[in-house]
Amino acid sequence: MIKLPAPVYPWTDIYWPELAKAGGLASVEYEVVDHLPFRAKAHAMTWRGRVLLRREWIAPALGDMDGNTINPRHLWAIETMAFHEPYHVIEQRKMPWRSYLLRYIWQWIRGGFSYRNIQEEIEAYAQERKLADIWFKWRAPLTGLRSRPNW
Ligand SMILES: [Zn+2]
Repeated sequence: MIKLPAPVYPWTDIYWPELAKAGGLASVEYEVVDHLPFRAKAHAMTWRGRVLLRREWIAPALGDMDGNTINPRHLWAIETMAFHEPYHVIEQRKMPWRSYLLRYIWQWIRGGFSYRNIQEEIEAYAQERKLADIWFKWRAPLTGLRSRPNW
């Protein structure tokens, strides 16, 4: 079971009330996989309510810890796992899986087969940016990072 650094859980629930209402960050399940569905080259994908993390991508954030917990210095992993993918988890809990998948594919088609034009992704990235900016200001001094990394 992959875990985020402990302070991320209560913090995210405070700054993201909709996630808290949906069960909180602690209710989000993560699984490391060799390949994402459709062999997608994305970093992570929320599939049937669980967040799948592509091994090649997540390995550096796990390697220098106990193998199960994300190193707090790896803000890129926290950003995806805590501030982006839970957006999809919330959406997937609102409706049956098939309805969700069809809606997502329809948004992709309507957006000219571009991932970045999918309405749900636009919203998920907006949420990610918002929380990452606050998290970085609050957390950076504790991790020894002086500037927000580019990722
Ligand atoms: Zn997404």
